[in-house]
Amino acid sequence: MNSSQSKQNFSLKFIGTSSGKTHPLRFHSSFIFTTERKNILIDCGDGISRALLVNKIPYDKITDIIITHYHSDHLAGLPSLLTQMIIEKRKTPLKIFTHNKLINLLEKFLTASFLFLDKLDFKVEILGFEFIQNYKIDNQFYFTAKQNDHIVNKHNIQLQDVEFISSSFLFTSGNKKVIYTSDIGSKEDLYLFNEVETDIFITETTHLTLTELENALIIQNPKKIILTHIDLENENKINYWIKSQIGSLKNKIILAQEGIKLEI
Ligand SMILES: [Zn+2]
Repeated sequence: MNSSQSKQNFSLKFIGTSSGKTHPLRFHSSFIFTTERKNILIDCGDGISRALLVNKIPYDKITDIIITHYHSDHLAGLPSLLTQMIIEKRKTPLKIFTHNKLINLLEKFLTASFLFLDKLDFKVEILGFEFIQNYKIDNQFYFTAKQNDHIVNKHNIQLQDVEFISSSFLFTSGNKKVIYTSDIGSKEDLYLFNEVETDIFITETTHLTLTELENALIIQNPKKIILTHIDLENENKINYWIKSQIGSLKNKIILAQEGIKLEI
């Protein structure tokens, strides 16, 4: 192993930090990992193209996209983003990761936007993942997904080709570990990667109470905590809660802001 491999550094930059409700000052939740050779965009909801522009991230730099689930604040910007790439005459290949059972749905969504992947001037691969498997994206950078309960109440709806699947993620590089809850459906979802010693725990703040969150964070004790998916109505309450921390969580919690970059 040479010295550059042993460093295993990567960074994380927040692109959007709002909930599913359109926010006057925040874009929908999204962030980007930068590794040695890759820029991996996590989610691409409505408005992602403008969010990337505002955050000065060229579309051409994005090498991979991982989609946590198919609500519009996490997926709906994808056709527009691909369209921007076409307009800019992109040549760089792009990989899109989604759950295996959602590939059909994604292909239909893109076709309905008149995006025909096999006719583009750049290669777009849609790659399916399964839960609890480890997938390599770049030298030492891996992800594992686990199913959460976010859209579990939709499971009684039976529609052909429609699966209600929502994922939480563990990202690892060397001994560094980042958990991203994405949108969850129960407090148990906060413990999906309970066994992991976490460097950064990124959690949504819409579908849980601050008490549930506090309990989970005290038990798991990550080194740093970032709260995202922020409702305008909840922002003051969350800020007050962060400032009122006096125990083990004191000085560990950050309310996500767009443009914040963390070296990991
Ligand atoms: Zn959602």
